[in-house]
Amino acid sequence: MTTVKDEKQRIDYLLSRDNTTDRELEKIYLEAVNLLRSIISEEFNSYAVDGVLTPQDLTRRVTKKDMVLLKKLYDQLPDNLELSEQQRVNYYLASSQTSLSRLLIASIGIALVGVTHKVAKIIRKNNKRAVREEYNYRRRSMRAPRRGKANQIGEDNYELPKMAVPWLDRLWLDHDQMLNRIDNQITSMLKQGMRAQDIAEKLFPGNAESMRKDNIPETLINASVSAKRLARTEAAAREDEVSELFLIKNKTKYFDWVTERGACRRCTAIALAGPYKVGDINSPRIPIDSHPNCRCRRIPAEVEADEGVDRGKKALVAGIVSGISRSNKDDNQENSDTNDKITVTKEKPGSRLILKEGRQRIHFKGTKEYNDRVRSAETPGSKREGWYPSYFTISQDELVDFIINNVTEKDLANRYFFMNLGKPVGVYITKGNKDQITSRIKVLMTDDRKMYHAVPAPPKDRKKG
Ligand SMILES: [Zn+2]
Repeated sequence: MTTVKDEKQRIDYLLSRDNTTDRELEKIYLEAVNLLRSIISEEFNSYAVDGVLTPQDLTRRVTKKDMVLLKKLYDQLPDNLELSEQQRVNYYLASSQTSLSRLLIASIGIALVGVTHKVAKIIRKNNKRAVREEYNYRRRSMRAPRRGKANQIGEDNYELPKMAVPWLDRLWLDHDQMLNRIDNQITSMLKQGMRAQDIAEKLFPGNAESMRKDNIPETLINASVSAKRLARTEAAAREDEVSELFLIKNKTKYFDWVTERGACRRCTAIALAGPYKVGDINSPRIPIDSHPNCRCRRIPAEVEADEGVDRGKKALVAGIVSGISRSNKDDNQENSDTNDKITVTKEKPGSRLILKEGRQRIHFKGTKEYNDRVRSAETPGSKREGWYPSYFTISQDELVDFIINNVTEKDLANRYFFMNLGKPVGVYITKGNKDQITSRIKVLMTDDRKMYHAVPAPPKDRKKG
């Protein structure tokens, strides 16, 4: 018998597995930033005249010598390119012959094909692992369908119910969008006459202050956020499909919806309105009836007989769920990027916020970022000597859920603001003082108020003291 408690634990495990996948994906995009920087610098050094590169410098015909870098990048691509990859490579190669500026974009395009190829590999591996692990998990408490049947669900070409765009197509659309944005960034930089300094300060700004502008690292961060969401959502969809196989195999009549911690209003409403009939087209599924990134689960429900779900309740359920999906549809029409919007939470001011994950990890024990800070605190003579990082004792998910659900429009007008979670959330540390357990946090915003991270704040508001 699967209990709600078992499923909540299972969700915790899945979230930690998602986080591991997130790190793998982030690493690829971080490497990509360095790769693109070296490509642009190399081309700049070959074509700049007196330290400035203008569109005129790049209009001449492309010679064999100019093709060396492109050739090198091409040779680094894996041999087993798929059709969608090969088509793009061919297109970049053809367009590279028009002018040096097209050659530069083609080089970047080819480099990014290698990047997206690696990302696809990780998501594919993640999908298969999701299916394998879900099968083994369900098998412990339920009669198992044939393993071969479940394994098919992990394949790229498996058609998930109601999912419109296959993940691989979506990933390549994101790739095209990423290249377009970089193309625009470089073109507008060239119009003003690009200097070596511009590459460092405008195309690849190192600090968060200048990250508010459109630039290459920001573009790659956006792509990595999108890839992480895709990986998580695809894994969840496949796990849900394996669950469906088990429910059918066990002739289970009804299922309950188990929400993840800090679930949104939509998922909470779905859960409250359960149980639902297995196999019914109107019964909700994950993630298509909830939202991308949803980590809720379905478990067999204990219902005595068909009458267990009475008519009045069913009508209520239908009302709630259809009401939600209607408002969902309305929201979607306002946005072209429909599938990626978390519609219900979108009403909240906090749902627009993007977590600066690297900065945030400094305040969680066990991360590389935290360990680096501790090391510099312990390095004699370093500027951070003696400054140990404050850290959270709640999970990052809980922290993020609280912030996005409780932040107000007024908070967001400031560079930073304080919040109180009403229970101990971390340890506030300053040099020379005793460590203090605190329930307060300070949320720091980027200049454009789009990205944030939080730190434990002093337990008492000092202004009043
Ligand atoms: Zn959910």
